Amino acid sequence: MKIAVVGCGVGGMGAALALARRGHEVTLLEAFDAPRPVGSGLLLQPTGLKALGALGLEAAIRERGARVDRLDGRDLAGRRVLDVDYADWRRGGHGIGIHRGVLFDTLHQALAPAGVTLVTGARIVRIEDLRRPLLHDAGGRTHGPFDLAVIADGSASSLRGQVKPRARARPYPWGAVWANAPDPDGAWTGALRQIYDRAEVMVGVLPVGRAPEGGDIPQVSLFWSLPTAEMDAFFAGDFAAWQARVRQVWPAAAPLIDTLAGPDVMARAVYRDVWVGRWSEGATLLIGDAAHGTSPQLGQGANLALVDAVELGERFATATTSVTVTARDYETSRRWHVMPYQFISWAMTPLFQSHGGFWAAVRRWLFTPLSRAPGIRQFGAAVLTGTARVSRWPGATRP
Ligand SMILES: Cc1cc2nc3c(=O)[nH]c(=O)nc-3n(C[C@H](O)[C@H](O)[C@H](O)COP(=O)(O)OP(=O)(O)OC[C@H]3O[C@@H](n4cnc5c(N)ncnc54)[C@H](O)[C@@H]3O)c2cc1C
Repeated sequence: MKIAVVGCGVGGMGAALALARRGHEVTLLEAFDAPRPVGSGLLLQPTGLKALGALGLEAAIRERGARVDRLDGRDLAGRRVLDVDYADWRRGGHGIGIHRGVLFDTLHQALAPAGVTLVTGARIVRIEDLRRPLLHDAGGRTHGPFDLAVIADGSASSLRGQVKPRARARPYPWGAVWANAPDPDGAWTGALRQIYDRAEVMVGVLPVGRAPEGGDIPQVSLFWSLPTAEMDAFFAGDFAAWQARVRQVWPAAAPLIDTLAGPDVMARAVYRDVWVGRWSEGATLLIGDAAHGTSPQLGQGANLALVDAVELGERFATATTSVTVTARDYETSRRWHVMPYQFISWAMTPLFQSHGGFWAAVRRWLFTPLSRAPGIRQFGAAVLTGTARVSRWPGATRP
C-alpha cells in the first residue's frame, strides 16, 4: 500500500518504520525543515520498550538510557506521597529514562534503511478526500493520493478537526518547564524523584543516561510545574530568584539547578486533553497525541504512541478487509489500552497540579493511604508500567 504518515515525532517515526518494515511504500511528511525533538527527557515504560524491541531499536535505547526502578514522590517534610516500585509489577521490571534527542536520533536514523521517504518542510494544511487522501502542504505542493494517511501531528494537531470535526483538545491549565543537567556522580540514578508543596509546586528529576552528542557523563532531566498563564512571566522573569526557590524547596537539587545558565536552556511544555471519539474516517487515521493526548501525570504519551505505531504495522500486515474496516478494527483494539490512561491521567492531574489546599488534602488523606493498600499497590505499578489494558495484548507489544 502507498501510505502517508504526517508528523516526524515519536508516533509518526514509529508508524513509518513499522509500516515500511511490513512492505508498504511509506512517505513521512514533516512540517519543519530539520525535524527536532521537543522537550528534554522522558520515561520509557516496559510497553514502550517492547514496541521499540519490535522495531529492532530496544538495545540501542537501553545502551544510552538510564534504568529507573521506582517513582519516589515526597512532600516538603520528606513524607512519601507516591511510592511506586516496578518490582510490584514484575520482578526485575523497570523503565528506561532517555534523553529525547537520543530517542529521536535512534528512530530517525532507522528511517532511511527501512526505505521510508522523509519529506521535510511539508506542513500539511488540508486533507482532500478522507477515503483516498490527497495531502496539500503550506507551500502549495500536493502529496498523494495515498491508500492510507496516518496523522501523527501531535496534541496541537491542526489536521484533527478535518478528520473529526467534533474532536476537542482542551489545554490543561498547568504545564511545565524542563531542562537537562549533568549528574557526574550518578547521584540521581535508579528513580524518578519528585517533591511537592501542596499541589502548587511539583519539581522532579529523571535520570536519562547519555546526551545525544555523546560523552560518558550521565544526564538528568529536571522539570518544574507551573500554570501555563505564568509561563511567559517565568521566561521574562528573575531566573536567579527561581533557582533560589528550587534550592529552598529541594536542597539536594541545588547542584543541578546551579548548572542552568538561564531561562534559554529551559523548554516549555503544555499539555492537552484530547478526545476525538473514533480515531479514523475512511482511510485517514489519527494516532499518538493527535488521537489521545493526555496530561503528563502518568508519563505515558510516548509509550502509547510507540504501541500505536507497532500495532498499526501489525494490523496492516495481515489485513484482509478494506482499509476503512482495518483502521476501525485497529482503533477498537487500541482504545482498550488508551482510554483507561486518558481517564486516570485526567483524574490524577489536580492532585499534583492545582491551586489551593483542597486537592493536596485529598491526596494526603485519601490517595496516598489508598495507593499503599495491598492489591491497589500492584494495580498502581501496573498503571505506571503502561501495562494496564482492558483487552488482550497482541504478541508484538505484550510486555
Ligand atoms: C515535557 C514533556 C514530558 C513528557 N514526558 C513523557 C514521559 O516521561 N513519558 C512519555 O511516554 N511521554 C511523555 N511525554 C509525552 C510525549 O512527549 C508525547 O506523548 C509524544 O511525543 C507524542 O508523540 P507524537 O508523535 O504523537 O507527537 P509529537 O511528538 O508532538 O510529534 C508531532 C510531529 O508532527 C509535526 N507536525 C505538526 N503539525 C504538522 C503538520 N501540519 N504537517 C506536518 N507535520 C506536522 C511536528 O513538527 C512534530 O514533529 C512528555 C511530553 C512533554 C511535553
